[in-house]
Amino acid sequence: MISIIDNQLVQNGKRQKKYSDNGHDQKVELTIFEPPQSSTIMTKIKDIIQYLETFAPLAYQEEYDNSGLITGNQHSELNGVIITLDCIEEVIDEAVEKKANMIIAHHPIIFRGLKKLTGSNYIERTIIKAIKNDIAIYAIHTNLDNISSGVNKKISDKLGLLNTKILRSKNNTLKKLTTVIPKENTENVLSKLHEAGAGNIGNYKNCSFRMEGTGTFLPSEEANPTLGEIGQLENVNENRIEVIFPMYLKNKILNALFKAHPYEEVAYYVHDLENINNDVGSGMVGELPKSMKPSEFLDHVKKNLEAKVIRHTALVKESIKKVAVCGGSGSFLLGDAINSGADIFISGDFKYHEFFNAENRIIIADVGHYESEQFTKELIYEKISKKFANIALHFTELNTNPIFYA
Ligand SMILES: [Zn+2]
Ligand SMILES: [Zn+2]
Repeated sequence: MISIIDNQLVQNGKRQKKYSDNGHDQKVELTIFEPPQSSTIMTKIKDIIQYLETFAPLAYQEEYDNSGLITGNQHSELNGVIITLDCIEEVIDEAVEKKANMIIAHHPIIFRGLKKLTGSNYIERTIIKAIKNDIAIYAIHTNLDNISSGVNKKISDKLGLLNTKILRSKNNTLKKLTTVIPKENTENVLSKLHEAGAGNIGNYKNCSFRMEGTGTFLPSEEANPTLGEIGQLENVNENRIEVIFPMYLKNKILNALFKAHPYEEVAYYVHDLENINNDVGSGMVGELPKSMKPSEFLDHVKKNLEAKVIRHTALVKESIKKVAVCGGSGSFLLGDAINSGADIFISGDFKYHEFFNAENRIIIADVGHYESEQFTKELIYEKISKKFANIALHFTELNTNPIFYA
């Protein structure tokens, strides 16, 4: 049972729940689950973290970022979660009031190093208050921006974009494992490697390449060989197997290999790949089901992204079909948006001089940093509630946007 959001307590089935954000009422459909049979299975903070990091691994955050657990003990029992875009002092107050001991924020409250904790600014005060109240702050920032089911997919969905793909894919995130396995053990070892996450390429799972050959070895006096005898040169019918994997899974995959492989000494090679990983990277580009006039499309953006104001460059396109998006500060992706052939680039935080760079090749539309990313809260909520049915999950009731429009 989700007994969680404010005062709506429902047994089974589905209910509409209103929550307020950015001055508007929004509707979120909640699926209400049966209470768990046993109340002894408690969720820990680390269970939520481990789950979030299965689809948004910390390794996918940008170098300058500080995603991950910022305060708190991950082994503590979880009492409740507040989901917010920004973790500011008032959000800690809200967590205390709602008896939630975990805050999941998109933006990390500690971004650069802190040298003192005296409460002289809002960052220090937020951290002090969180620690005093035993509240874990977890940030899921550029690692959530950089995955194909992340922040930019949510924006694309809000705008009704189809055929979405990452705008600037990352390279150097993939590795290749080559190993040799006795023929009769190949299927078992390979299935364990796939289980650990090796062999996923785009929408294809369990990808591998194999070549049959002969392996030779001479076990020494100290050896304890699975096959062959000490002091005798052995020829074995083996398969050479190659699988691609994301670099952050290296230890997990090598452990799976060592555990499943029958040999005392496993022959393996890990290679760095320069290949582009189309599942990871910045921004997103997609298409509208039907072209729209630029002014009509801007109205559509305003409505669907709940933006009060859109700052944009000249409407130099006849119609809008291809749309590039980047939640937050996206000006660094303008070149990629132009090269993708997008008619318009929806993002936030563009500076005056950066608007000139559109050069009549694209329309830049700045909806605001908060506005572009506010639905990230929904995204986090949906992901967690799909997996954990019996935890108290709240959206912050605060509008944390520091910018007002007069
Ligand atoms: Zn972001
Ligand atoms: Zn942001």
